[in-house]
Amino acid sequence: MRLSLSVLEKFLLKSGFEVTNHCDAASGLVLCTARREADQAFVTYPHPLYEFRGLDRDQCTLRMAGDVAAIWGLTPEALALKALAEFDMPPQGFACTRCGRCCQRLGDAARGRIAPEQVREWEAAGLTRILRLVRRVDRPAYVFYEAWVNPRTGRYFKRCPWLARLPGGGRGCSIHEHKPLKCRAYPYDSEGAQRQGCPGFDHAPEFEVPEFEKKRVRAKGRPALPEQDAP
Ligand code: SF4
Ligand code: SF4
Repeated sequence: MRLSLSVLEKFLLKSGFEVTNHCDAASGLVLCTARREADQAFVTYPHPLYEFRGLDRDQCTLRMAGDVAAIWGLTPEALALKALAEFDMPPQGFACTRCGRCCQRLGDAARGRIAPEQVREWEAAGLTRILRLVRRVDRPAYVFYEAWVNPRTGRYFKRCPWLARLPGGGRGCSIHEHKPLKCRAYPYDSEGAQRQGCPGFDHAPEFEVPEFEKKRVRAKGRPALPEQDAP
């Protein structure tokens, strides 16, 4: 996994920031501002789910990494390592029980936008069975990707098509190793998760972290910052 606007945004959400969007009339960009009430720290960046034409995403990512790094008092490289290391890390006191409730209940589990970097990763891995349920939408100023769309009807699925019954009981993700960034980052905090009926924090004290979670954390590759353009 590479550092991207989405990864940085999810790192901020996990660190107690709240995100709001607004359209910047001068540039025509949809901008996000992540703000933390406790210390009034904030970062502004282009919306991670829109690929704006003519905007260099790698440069935007580097700029955002620099802004976030300044808040933490780190170099951008150290911040990248931290953000990528913590991206997959469950919040303190949390252990997923694989009940599948989030996948069934959350509005954006079955329908929503997918980060362009995520689409690139699936393309690079040749995951056509996933990509065939993703629709690219072209607008004059930007591109975005919608999932999960039934290719036969052109409509969103009512439920996430990857949620499957597990052999040992319960429900789980049938594309677990490749699931979207938003699914990988969930949950961001205990209050939100408990409000949504997630039992992962209730079970945490006595619940053994499943082997698949341990494997996923162990298997993470070495993080990398986007390459800078040659001078
Ligand atoms: S892709 Fe997997 S983790 Fe995400 S909502 Fe669907 S079943 Fe759940
Ligand atoms: S609702 Fe919570 S415990 Fe259940 S699958 Fe989702 S993250 Fe895991």
